[in-house]
Amino acid sequence: MRFGIFGDIHGNLEALETVLNDMQDQGVTHPVCIGDVVGYGANPVECLELVRQLNCPLVKGNHDEEASTESDLRDFNPAAAEAIRWTRRHLSAEQRGFLKQVRYSRPVADFTIVHASLDSPEKWGYVFNKLEAAASFTYQVSQLCFFGHTHVPHVFIRDTDLHGGFYSKIKVQPKRKYFINVGSVGQPRDGDWRCSYAIYDSQRELIELRRMEYDVVKAQKKIVAAGLPRRLAERLAAGR
Ligand code: ZN
Repeated sequence: MRFGIFGDIHGNLEALETVLNDMQDQGVTHPVCIGDVVGYGANPVECLELVRQLNCPLVKGNHDEEASTESDLRDFNPAAAEAIRWTRRHLSAEQRGFLKQVRYSRPVADFTIVHASLDSPEKWGYVFNKLEAAASFTYQVSQLCFFGHTHVPHVFIRDTDLHGGFYSKIKVQPKRKYFINVGSVGQPRDGDWRCSYAIYDSQRELIELRRMEYDVVKAQKKIVAAGLPRRLAERLAAGR
């Protein structure tokens, strides 16, 4: 099986369509979504419906959660909070109900998926360093776990010690555990503006990071036209 693991779409339809097309070209048989389908971008409705049509495994992201509730958005910066309020107004009650019932983590075939971290998925902690990865590994029973949330592709590997870094290809080795960030479809933050997702080929035990260009100008124009904060459009081109 060839799994296409993607997330942090953030209402960016141009990026999502590009990734789904690439999955088709790459012979992906099983798409898997690690959450944050909505928030920031101008097409939350379209992105959510596209992901739902895939009928694929899905876990909840923090923006999905906030868009589906009436919380006061205390933990969000002003631009993110404004985008969530905008997203709440544009999603239907049915769509918000759908997002609400999505779970925080789940097994898929021989691996696990979670949006943020396995030690407390509902607290949305960021895993940027080894200490944070170590906490998550404590709860990781499968050899592989894919996650997102930081929008930065990265692999953490646990064997006799814990190490990691950026990756483009990983050959899965026995007696090692892997916690793999697949980057972001719709709002990369590693300084590379191109969409990011990963392909896991379970027969060949190979993980490959994919990056591709998309129509960023179109996505930016839609954000501005929707009256969303201009900064959300600008950051797309910078990949920050
Ligand atoms: Zn996100």
